[in-house]
Amino acid sequence: MKGRPIITTGLICAAVVGVALWVIHARLVGHWVEVHTGTVNEPGPYYGFWSGFGSDLTEFAIIGTIATGVYQLVKKYNCHYPGCWRVGNHPAAGGQFSLCYRHHPDYQGKKPTLDLIQRLHNEHLARQAAMLGKLHEVHQHSTDRPAAANGGSGPGASAAQAAGSGNTQADPGTLDVTAIPHDT
Ligand SMILES: [Zn+2]
Repeated sequence: MKGRPIITTGLICAAVVGVALWVIHARLVGHWVEVHTGTVNEPGPYYGFWSGFGSDLTEFAIIGTIATGVYQLVKKYNCHYPGCWRVGNHPAAGGQFSLCYRHHPDYQGKKPTLDLIQRLHNEHLARQAAMLGKLHEVHQHSTDRPAAANGGSGPGASAAQAAGSGNTQADPGTLDVTAIPHDT
């Protein structure tokens, strides 16, 4: 939120400068375009207007459109750090932020070096492997636990096992509650 006025002010300044430059060079550029697109109509009565101030009207509109488009693009792709103008294409916090190399916590304000890339890549692989292993462990745990808790016998054993695989945090106390409708 804090970066918004800065970005807006910067864009307005850029647009003003762009318009000023364009107006200064309008005669030159406009004539070049007219000559090369074959739209020159020298003897026409409106030539004076369209090659003069009139030709700037469309340019104002074009600049406005371009400025709006650039603003939208910048809003979408620039770093989420307030007031930062770099392209933020490094996701952080699981994609919540798109940050530039300078503001991404992994890069410590420097461009990622080959060492860092390899280290982060290996860390990522290790984390994925650990997560997969944990998932496997939880799955094993959930299939083993209800049978052990109930001793593998009794009328509610199969129902408890079905409920247990759905909720790994359930203890035998809650499993008995789910088994009550089964008995009545
Ligand atoms: Zn940044």
